[in-house]
Amino acid sequence: MDLTRAAAEALDDADPLAGFRSRFAGASDDGPDRLLYLDGNSLGRLPVATSAALARVVEEQWGEGLVGSWASWIGEATRIGDVLADGVLGARPGEVLVGDSTSVNLYKLLMAGVDARPGRDVLVCTADDFPTDRYIVGGVADSRGMTVREIAADIDEGLDPAVLAEALDERVAVVVLSHVAYRSGALADVVAITRLVQASGALVLWDLSHSVGAVPVELGAAGADLAVGCTYKYLNGGPGAPAFLYVRRELQDQLRSPIRGWFGHRDQFAMGPSYDPAAGIERFGVGTPPVLAMAAVEVGAALIAEAGVARLAVKGRAVTDLMVALADEWLAPSGVALASPRQAGRRGSHVTFAHPAAWQLTQALIDRRVVPDFRTPERVRLGPAPLYTRFVDVWDAMDRFRTVLDERAFEGYPAERARVT
Ligand SMILES: *Cc1c(COP(=O)(O)O)cnc(C)c1O
Repeated sequence: MDLTRAAAEALDDADPLAGFRSRFAGASDDGPDRLLYLDGNSLGRLPVATSAALARVVEEQWGEGLVGSWASWIGEATRIGDVLADGVLGARPGEVLVGDSTSVNLYKLLMAGVDARPGRDVLVCTADDFPTDRYIVGGVADSRGMTVREIAADIDEGLDPAVLAEALDERVAVVVLSHVAYRSGALADVVAITRLVQASGALVLWDLSHSVGAVPVELGAAGADLAVGCTYKYLNGGPGAPAFLYVRRELQDQLRSPIRGWFGHRDQFAMGPSYDPAAGIERFGVGTPPVLAMAAVEVGAALIAEAGVARLAVKGRAVTDLMVALADEWLAPSGVALASPRQAGRRGSHVTFAHPAAWQLTQALIDRRVVPDFRTPERVRLGPAPLYTRFVDVWDAMDRFRTVLDERAFEGYPAERARVT
């Protein structure tokens, strides 16, 4: 690979997604000291169209329409769910609902899945999954008198399906897995693993938080049962944007939400004496949805759909390949080790590096206007979101990273971690 800056510029010139950069606030700065934002997998950038979309909901729908606007707001969770289903998730209309947080949606679908597999008393997850996922699996198990089988997954290379196969038997009710591992970016084979889990009679619940909007998620083609995911990462829905949940159509009427909210009722405004779940995906609704925040989700989801997930995945592999190649050349001699799968086809759109002073390196990079994440243990995570990150942005970020190492600039930063990393 040609590792010159000119070669990176040539890749940008040939990038079919290049035009999307100007659709994001602050992303078009070309200056030498510009912010190099490599954290789109933690909080995506602000789409330019979002401010006007929010202003419309605030001023027209709320300000003028007042309570009458509920006539349209009432359908937003399924309407925007369908935008995600069709444009991003490879699912059918009526299979995706927007609302609540990823954590709450995971809880709802996990409880529903457990109830749909009576007599089975084991939940499976990986020991290295995102904390909220593991905590919720543990909490559901405790409340139902079940056991958790936490299976080993290599923190850099991800889950080996053979290890999962060993853990599956007739006692397993639900398996919870991440499509892309939050720390390393390791990509799980949704098709093969879904088939494996279903063959054991269990349900599989995918967490798509770190894959949606960056790599293809073909829920329908994979025959996936259940899924949840964030909208504030690669989907650019904004801080605290509501999450989504997916339930395969054929399963919907067999599953019941553990939270019997009125937004999941068949005839909500009958205000009837007892709970009667709606037909279809709407039964997984709970309470009044965050209408303002959903308007931002729609803008983000529509942008991803417009760019096309297949093209985003191609670009994601190429920018992360460049990052890995530059790290091999410039950072490895200073003790920075790749902590992600080396093969682009085996990872999502972020790359993680291990170094004993990772937290200090993170602070030094932020001071030099490169924004990564620190992740335990001793890792710097870089997420070049393919929709708005250029090859030269990656080149310049790695150049600043190399300078921080060569000048040992990181040694001047405190080793003690901040509250938010
Ligand atoms: C980001 C992320 C979450 C976040 O859940 P919230 O409820 O939105 O805080 C959950 N799971 C995974 C795998 C994530 O990457």
